[in-house]
Amino acid sequence: MDKKLLINLSKFRECGNQSCDETPPEGFFSHLTGTTGLKSIRELAVFQFTCRKCEDAPCITVCPAEALEKDDNGMIERYTNLCISCKSCVAICPFGTMMSDFFDHHRKKDLFFDLSDEHELREFIKACPVGSVELVDMDENPEQNIYKLNDQILVKENIWNTDKQ
Ligand code: SF4
Ligand code: SF4
Repeated sequence: MDKKLLINLSKFRECGNQSCDETPPEGFFSHLTGTTGLKSIRELAVFQFTCRKCEDAPCITVCPAEALEKDDNGMIERYTNLCISCKSCVAICPFGTMMSDFFDHHRKKDLFFDLSDEHELREFIKACPVGSVELVDMDENPEQNIYKLNDQILVKENIWNTDKQ
């Protein structure tokens, strides 16, 4: 895609707080699927921009499946192939980092869209909550709380600190 996809995380969060009737879809890039399982762009975004990288990381401690760990930069990573969707990490995180609908997708594979594919990208945008995702022709703009996740994705989020580590 020529344009970038702008993901507004607060709109998705509002959806998780019952303003939407349906579970929002997830977008991923098939070429980014690695040994830790399928990674949605929302999950990559919240661990990079919303998570406060707690030193004691209670989310890791509470996880009964050893599905969470920190990488060398202190960024949390979820092994989606180990996660049992208990949502203990959602409950214990003091900052609401993880959205509880992330874990519904284990059983709803039809909600996943491969954004490498133009048709699936269009379907993903249509299926997302109103105002949560749009194609834009712009670059990262921290003054508008817009940050670069990767070359194709921008994320709008009120981050707790501008040092993205
Ligand atoms: S508890 Fe929440 S904010 Fe703290 S490291 Fe875990 S996900 Fe990040
Ligand atoms: S939802 Fe998954 S990652 Fe979170 S605590 Fe449960 S098993 Fe661990």
